[in-house]
Amino acid sequence: MPQDKGLYMPVNIPQLDDKFINNLDQYSLPEIAFHVAKNLLGDDIADDDLKAIIYDAISFLAPVVKLEENVFVLELFHGPSLAFKDFGARFMSRVMSYFLEADEKQLDVLVATSGDTGGAVALGFLGVPNTRVTILFPKGKVSDIQELQLTTNGQNIRAVEIDGTFDDCQALVKQAFTDAELNEKFRLTSANSINIARLIPQTFYYFNAYAQLLKQGIDKVVFSVPSGNFGNIGAGLLAWKMGLPVEHFIAATNVNDTVPEFLKTGVYQPKPSVATLSNAMDVGDPSNWVRIADLFKDDIEKLKTLVTGYRYDDDETLNAIKFIYDNNNYVACPHTAIAWQALKDWQQDNYRGDFAGVFLSTAHPCKFPDVYPRSVAGKIIVPERVKALAKKNKKSVALGKDFEGFKKYLLENK
Ligand SMILES: *Cc1c(COP(=O)(O)O)cnc(C)c1O
Repeated sequence: MPQDKGLYMPVNIPQLDDKFINNLDQYSLPEIAFHVAKNLLGDDIADDDLKAIIYDAISFLAPVVKLEENVFVLELFHGPSLAFKDFGARFMSRVMSYFLEADEKQLDVLVATSGDTGGAVALGFLGVPNTRVTILFPKGKVSDIQELQLTTNGQNIRAVEIDGTFDDCQALVKQAFTDAELNEKFRLTSANSINIARLIPQTFYYFNAYAQLLKQGIDKVVFSVPSGNFGNIGAGLLAWKMGLPVEHFIAATNVNDTVPEFLKTGVYQPKPSVATLSNAMDVGDPSNWVRIADLFKDDIEKLKTLVTGYRYDDDETLNAIKFIYDNNNYVACPHTAIAWQALKDWQQDNYRGDFAGVFLSTAHPCKFPDVYPRSVAGKIIVPERVKALAKKNKKSVALGKDFEGFKKYLLENK
């Protein structure tokens, strides 16, 4: 974290050349990833090393699946932790270990999770020499499978259960990064989407989704993004800044609707987070919002015309899950269902049923088994690696939400 408590942003965002954009359909996901990363990172990582990092990190696909005319789902849950956060976490962990020298002080990664980040980051760093990960998660507010993914890793991964909300976990982590004593004793780094190294790889799949549609002759695309901390849609907007010709973005939230409210009223008013069925989006003060505001600092009106916000409560989320299942025979996770509903509402509100709508599916439905009515739950195919988790031992430390207690724990458990 910069000491002024802001977030790092690229000083300038270079445009990708037209030739690349117009021929996106000729490239595979890792090829696109290399080209986009190279455009942003320049020569900071040698080409061969960058290629190796990308082929190792992005080792699974992000297919665009057609549900009906002009409604597509971009499935981002085919990585090891079954959530889109694998893209960011795997790329970031490999970049960090690339820059870590063997004789340096251990890298201490602190990460707050509302559910999916912790699992992706843990698997990204598991066994990476000279690193340690401390995961903070809100007690009782993550699903059973998520908790197993957080607490059964062992090795260089430890889990801390905080008696509070995700916002409390995030506040503890942020405070640790600006605490002088902790910074002197540890080499601390963040693995949340406040870390720019997580955002960059999330731009890759927007380009790749567009490429898949181009192959079908489609070039007018609207992305609907289920949003919590606004890293995912922030990456989409970064892709747009780099030259991806997206017609429109939809920021879909649950009742934690700080951003949809802002887009409507022009007033950014953070609120305490409220627990919902889409728990990974229970964020009242999205940390990546400042990045989006920065991307549009010269033209805030452009932001308001490019992005529309929609918000849904838990009943609407459940209705959406049922509707998608009944009509498309597809099981969406609760976050994904919110993005689908927002897309349908936007297409209707704007008479733009002719634009290809792509809603992002951020997690595999099996991560949220308690959410579904029985008829739908029975249709979910649980991957083998999830079944294996149940046999492992859970291990975590319980702490309150006060910073002094957390600091003491860190100092006493070097
Ligand atoms: C993290 C997460 C989100 C929210 O993504 P942000 O980048 O924080 O906006 C949505 N859905 C799922 C399943 C997630 O894990």
